[in-house]
Amino acid sequence: MRKTPVLYVIVPCYNEEKVLSQTAPLFLEKLDKLTKSGKILPQSRVLFVDDGSSDNTWQIICALAKRDERCIGISQSRNRGHQNAVLAGLMEVKDWCDITISIDCDGQDDIDVMDEMVEKYMAGFEVVYGVRSRRKKDGLFKRASAQFFYRLLRWMGAEVVYNHADYRLISAKVLKELAEFKEVNIYLRGMVPLAGFKSTSVYYERRERVAGKSHYSFSKMLGLALDGITSLTIRPIRLISAAGTAVSLLSFLMIIWVVVQFFMGKTVHGWASTCAIICFVCGIQLICTGVIGEYVGKIYLETKHRPRYIISDRTYEVPEEK
Ligand code: UDP
Ligand code: MG
Repeated sequence: MRKTPVLYVIVPCYNEEKVLSQTAPLFLEKLDKLTKSGKILPQSRVLFVDDGSSDNTWQIICALAKRDERCIGISQSRNRGHQNAVLAGLMEVKDWCDITISIDCDGQDDIDVMDEMVEKYMAGFEVVYGVRSRRKKDGLFKRASAQFFYRLLRWMGAEVVYNHADYRLISAKVLKELAEFKEVNIYLRGMVPLAGFKSTSVYYERRERVAGKSHYSFSKMLGLALDGITSLTIRPIRLISAAGTAVSLLSFLMIIWVVVQFFMGKTVHGWASTCAIICFVCGIQLICTGVIGEYVGKIYLETKHRPRYIISDRTYEVPEEK
């Protein structure tokens, strides 16, 4: 049987002033209930990660930290995106906690499944994924595009948990291993399964945001999808090689056919069809160059070894060893 754990709830926040005042008390209430029922130790905390917000989010976090010692906060020096914010929080607390639960601050993820997550940890699991059982509250387009993307990733050979976003429990043991993943192109949903360890899922129904609107525009979602694919798999490049081989083989057969026709005295007519084929192949070549370029760009970014997050403020003193 495991020891009662110290839990850190990691909450990324970007321009969430409308939301935070409503959801922060709910996180604290949950922490309270979990502590009272003896599931977690009283040293447990909620860590808010301000992702370079331009509104009053950081001021709200500071006020929360002043009012209640169980609330702490860090602020990124600028907006770096959801994945970087979650990673910054996880790396910040990895040496102080036994377990972390990352959750969005907008009230969409059901906090009541945290109990079940902690129970699964006590039963021996190191990672517990929060999986959306239904996406009724998401728009039709978001639902369809998300499901298409999960299928695409799976087909490309990447291991991701279907309908799981960034609501998950990770133990300190796994966090220490994740710290060794030095990539800049961060896609936590893919990195956590790559780290391995015993994992399981809990299911919940996704709700609507309590206020404000989603920060994931179509182009941001596309960007995250591209990051996911390029950080997890090189299958697109393999597909290009396979397509290239198939097209070359076909052209070779065509050349033989043309030469045979020539010697039989039947010249090949058809300027239009030749043009169509050239345009088609040119288009394919451009797409292929683009896909390879995408990977080359990612390699370029990785070689710079730039920091993945920069913490500019904390609501607490940095411990000596940090
Ligand atoms: N978020 C962030 N940085 C960003 C965008 C979003 O930290 O650049 C946070 C946001 O505050 C929220 C979570 O990430 O807690 C998920 O964002 P959102 O609710 O907008 O995405 P959706 O739920 O629509 O996918
Ligand atoms: Mg949301």
